[in-house]
Amino acid sequence: MATIGFIGLGNMGGPMAINLVKAGHNVKAFDLSQAAMDTVVAEGGNAAASAADAVTGADFVVSMLPAGKHVQGLFQTGDAPLFDLISKDALIIDSSTIDAATAQSVSAAAAERGLSFIDAPVSGGVGGAVAGTLAFMVGATDEQFAKAKPILDVMGKNIFHAGQSGAGQIAKACNNMLLSILMTGTCEALNMGMKNGLDPAVLSEIMKQSSGGNWALNVYNPVPGVMEGVPSSNDYQGGFQVDLMYKDLGLAMDLSQQSASSVPMGSAARSLFSLHKAKGNGGLDFSSVIKLYQDQ
Ligand code: NAD
Repeated sequence: MATIGFIGLGNMGGPMAINLVKAGHNVKAFDLSQAAMDTVVAEGGNAAASAADAVTGADFVVSMLPAGKHVQGLFQTGDAPLFDLISKDALIIDSSTIDAATAQSVSAAAAERGLSFIDAPVSGGVGGAVAGTLAFMVGATDEQFAKAKPILDVMGKNIFHAGQSGAGQIAKACNNMLLSILMTGTCEALNMGMKNGLDPAVLSEIMKQSSGGNWALNVYNPVPGVMEGVPSSNDYQGGFQVDLMYKDLGLAMDLSQQSASSVPMGSAARSLFSLHKAKGNGGLDFSSVIKLYQDQ
């Protein structure tokens, strides 16, 4: 069993760290939030006194932080960079969703110091993190991927080797842009059906079994009451926040610009989430974007 320094125990990182504990690993957990720390310690994780304490002597370091600036600051450019403390034999697995350019630059800075840093963002939401069924999209060398796989297998069900450094973040940006398009499209169709007198549950079932079927209709219906156990049936609490989807769409737009890829559908979805966020809905689950249509 490995010693794993885990930094960032939020909605996603907390349950991911707990799954590593349950698999028998020695998890040294750290978060700026004491409440987040308490949740993991209650399940058998060891409370680290600081991020530095968490990574010292670790075989693996896993980070699950909000954005690129947090990852770069913590490991490379902050006042007390963790790169100064991490063992050369350790593997650093960053599962945060960040921009590919930062992931590549932090990985290159690690390599210059003889350290190993890979990007391994996830899909599957909080439910997938709790159940240990996340999809991991990994940007790494073959050797790094082989080393990470047994650890990722504990937290996920589908572990993909997307390519070299940064490739995991590129795959994640593509996936989340598509997710935003299919969620807004599903909201648009459901709203039109409801405005024309259809029962959203009946319409959802029809589209699910027809050519419009998609992930939102199958497992994440945006209309309250159609599906149990999803954020829409819980006042859009929990799940994947509008703020995070907006961040991910920003990453997708940057990527499209850098590569001159046209993304008219992604741009339209981003505008809708931007408007929805501006109306004060940033903390709600992203399926709440259906309110934009209903408010009109
Ligand atoms: P979160 O805000 O719940 O958790 C982030 C945690 O990082 C917080 O607990 C915060 O205190 C901690 N943190 C920030 N800076 C820190 C530092 N310097 N040292 C220690 N801890 C620090 O966010 P989340 O929902 O868990 O998302 C984390 C990442 O996963 C994001 O990049 C997000 O885009 C991505 N993601 C989220 C979901 C989802 O459904 N929530 C799904 C896939 C990917």
